[in-house]
Amino acid sequence: MTEVPSYGMLIDGENRETGAWLEIRNPQDDSLVARVARGGIGEIDDAVAAAKRAFDSGVWAKRSPAERSRVMTDIAEKMSERIEELVHLEMIANGATVRQATGFHVGIAIQHFSYFAELAASYEFETALAPQSYPTLGQNIIRKEPIGVCGAISPWNFPLVLTLWKIGPAIAAGNSIVVKPDEKTPLSLLEFGRIAEECGLPAGVLNIVPGEGVDAGARLVEHPDVGKVAFTGSTEIGREIMRSAADTVKRVTLELGGKSPSIVLDDADLRLAVDGVLFGCMFYSGQICESGTRVLVPDSLHDEFVRRLIRRAKTIKLGPIDDWETDLGPVISAKQHQRVLDLIARGADEGAKVVLGGGIPDGEKFRSGFWIEPTILTEVTNDMKVAREEIFGPVMCVLRYSDKDEAVRIANDSIYGLAATIWSTDNARALEFGEHLQAGTVWINDHHQVNPAAPFGGYKQSGIGRELGAHCLDEYTETKNVYVDLSGDLESRPYDLLLSHDATTRSR
Ligand code: NAD
Repeated sequence: MTEVPSYGMLIDGENRETGAWLEIRNPQDDSLVARVARGGIGEIDDAVAAAKRAFDSGVWAKRSPAERSRVMTDIAEKMSERIEELVHLEMIANGATVRQATGFHVGIAIQHFSYFAELAASYEFETALAPQSYPTLGQNIIRKEPIGVCGAISPWNFPLVLTLWKIGPAIAAGNSIVVKPDEKTPLSLLEFGRIAEECGLPAGVLNIVPGEGVDAGARLVEHPDVGKVAFTGSTEIGREIMRSAADTVKRVTLELGGKSPSIVLDDADLRLAVDGVLFGCMFYSGQICESGTRVLVPDSLHDEFVRRLIRRAKTIKLGPIDDWETDLGPVISAKQHQRVLDLIARGADEGAKVVLGGGIPDGEKFRSGFWIEPTILTEVTNDMKVAREEIFGPVMCVLRYSDKDEAVRIANDSIYGLAATIWSTDNARALEFGEHLQAGTVWINDHHQVNPAAPFGGYKQSGIGRELGAHCLDEYTETKNVYVDLSGDLESRPYDLLLSHDATTRSR
């Protein structure tokens, strides 16, 4: 058997093994790169118990927001010192290229975690309202208190970023957390766990239990001591999570699928729009929830735009993920590889034209692993399966439209509503167009811009709640309204609504 590094899980500050293992494979050649201890129901129960002990002890929850912020800032700084290790662990499990993993997966994870560290210090955990005088003089104080034990379930595409979007606000607010990362990609997050411990995050505040969704994930969602679950993944599993969370009336935030339109207006700067549309769709092989996978082009520009798209897409270079010259890597797994190829074939059957790619690239190095050529389908209509379902591969669907009303109708005709992009040289026109779109994020003349200070999430079946943004700690706190009487006197109370004012009947 190949000798590869082994990793334990993190429960109560300890490195735990179970005897059962998850095999971590590199999508570029399907080679075994690591083994990770596999957790199940028992390990989730232990992790939740540890998180509850840590929370109840006050070791983290009772620290001042400024102290929590300091520890979190130290964590972000140590992540920067260990960036090469984090990039390596991210790449070998999810197939991101080194350029992409450095600039996006890990670079953004550090930037966003630093933002949560700042938020821990600046968030208003307590607000005193102006005193009220009627019916009696009194004042309300609104407190935001940690929920207790939170659960996080994250997908494989951005193992670090999307899990830190949950860990960051949870611990900034003083909660403890149990994380169930995706079974294919837990390595970079386990390294994050080590960093957090080294920086003084108390044992039990952060627990990481790699495992499968059916047992470990499901148990975390149903566990009675977990007060909130934050999930990123498919809409299908999101529905299951919502159903299961209902039994214990858990708070849930769901970040789910997308089929985002990228709309080229007839006044678009074509050089920018061609590059931008390709970046929006093909970056990371289209394996991003917000990818602009449905490209809407006006009839008047269609043929010229497609010609330019094909010419530019041909320059995208596939190759070894650790080569700084490589533009695009593989897709995540054998199952996903087959699914993407099947969907391309289905598109062709339904009448779409494959004008670029459509299969496995030529060359010996692409025989093992899960490679797919950048693929462009034209003559796609919005009722085709390729236009309705997430493909999660490097596949662009080009749809024609004749006028604005038709573009808006096609754009909104989806169960999803995560993001949309508009390409136009007229910002006022693009802003007005954006008002008609049912999407949690609307980009104008760009794509994949995620500012941690701006909320991120979806309309419709793309999710519930928002991650990031100045208010993201609201999702990790309970709101307590405390009323304090300031009148100090019995006579001014409205108790005469029930009780007589007659002194002789008053209790002494
Ligand atoms: P997935 O839903 O299959 O899995 C996501 C996570 O859920 C994994 O950790 C998995 O183990 C776990 N899981 C599976 N079944 C479970 C169950 N019954 N109970 C609890 N947990 C369970 O999704 P995926 O294929 O890993 O990720 C791709 C999906 O994620 C796409 O649909 C994509 O659009 C979506 N996504 C959304 C966002 C967003 O912010 N909206 C971001 C990235 C990815």
